[in-house]
Amino acid sequence: MSCVFSNEAFDGHEQVAFRHDRETGLNAIIAVHDRTLGPAAGGCRMHHYASEAEALRDALRLSQGMTRKSALAGLPFGGGKSVIIGDPRRHKTKRLLESMGDFVESLGGRYLTGEDSGIGVDDVRVMATRTAHVGGVQAGAEHGGDPSPTTAYGVYLAMRAAVCHRFGSDAMDGLRVAIQGLGQVGLHLAGLLVADGAQVYGTDVRANLTMRAVSKFGITPVVDPAEILATQAEVFAPCALGAVLDRNSIAGLKAAIVAGAANNQLASPADGERLHQRGILYCPDFLINAGGIIDIHHQRLGTGRNRMHAHVQRIPSTLLKVIRRSETARRSPAQVADEMADEILRCARRERTSVDTPQPQTA
Ligand code: NAD
Repeated sequence: MSCVFSNEAFDGHEQVAFRHDRETGLNAIIAVHDRTLGPAAGGCRMHHYASEAEALRDALRLSQGMTRKSALAGLPFGGGKSVIIGDPRRHKTKRLLESMGDFVESLGGRYLTGEDSGIGVDDVRVMATRTAHVGGVQAGAEHGGDPSPTTAYGVYLAMRAAVCHRFGSDAMDGLRVAIQGLGQVGLHLAGLLVADGAQVYGTDVRANLTMRAVSKFGITPVVDPAEILATQAEVFAPCALGAVLDRNSIAGLKAAIVAGAANNQLASPADGERLHQRGILYCPDFLINAGGIIDIHHQRLGTGRNRMHAHVQRIPSTLLKVIRRSETARRSPAQVADEMADEILRCARRERTSVDTPQPQTA
């Protein structure tokens, strides 16, 4: 389905822009979902999509998730996302990235871009030669501005809180964690967990990345990526792409907790309920992977590492609030997190309307 306004993932997007550049071969989409809280912020993904319809759906779903992510993380950003259709290893060129920078610039600051799967900090630097509307490349910032280590840190803190809630102790020693995807975030997450004594299993469809994690951190490789979901582990950490949790995969899941960085892990809202029914504690993706966007926010403000880390350290308490409300209300954590984010947005819209509405004059 390639329609826009009647797309099942449309959800009232403010703007969806398309760009084809004949010279560089760029085919890209920018989705601006909601700017109630600020400019629409969200990274740029480059992926070898099976179809244009799949790319559009991904952009729409990811930007909607960004709206909720920034709302729950207390950030002055709205939700947006961009996708470049193409294989990052074959089609990514400097000129294509410059052209993407021009595309971002053409939206005049309504959309702020950054890293995502297939697009690293060096790629965003190239875009930054054509637009000021980028994050995650600030000079002097840690890791050259790459937010991925902070995303991993937020996921790690949330995972520990979930482990403590489920097992009564946050000791990670000997805890088995199965990581799907050992790219920018998955690798850092593996490092944090190994340092804490966890037994980490990991896989990546790119075998060299699996072997990198083995040699760097001594993780146990799962050679066939298809086997990671059914690996015997207390925690499953999806750090690859979306829609990995569906009717079939949930039925075979061995873990008691799902806590990972990937966006849009649930193939459909019903899958949040399926996990809940199976007694698997699902840590909502957009809540626990907010470390990266928090990092970008603090890079832009120049507030420094301590305040940025203090902000990321609020992720576990928000998660626990969601889990407790989910238990009291007997609704899935996925549903509760959506509701909490939507409530923040509703309040902000109400406030904006009341400020915009002229008050009656008293004589
Ligand atoms: P990345 O592209 O560096 O890593 C993803 C890895 O997953 C790749 O190495 C890829 O080969 C692998 N992969 C893809 N399909 C797989 C499969 N079926 N099985 C095993 N491995 C598979 O991307 P990243 O920046 O590490 O981001 C990972 C996820 O986290 C993405 O969904 C991204 O949107 C999300 N996320 C990233 C950040 C960030 O700061 N980078 C922030 C928030 C959310």
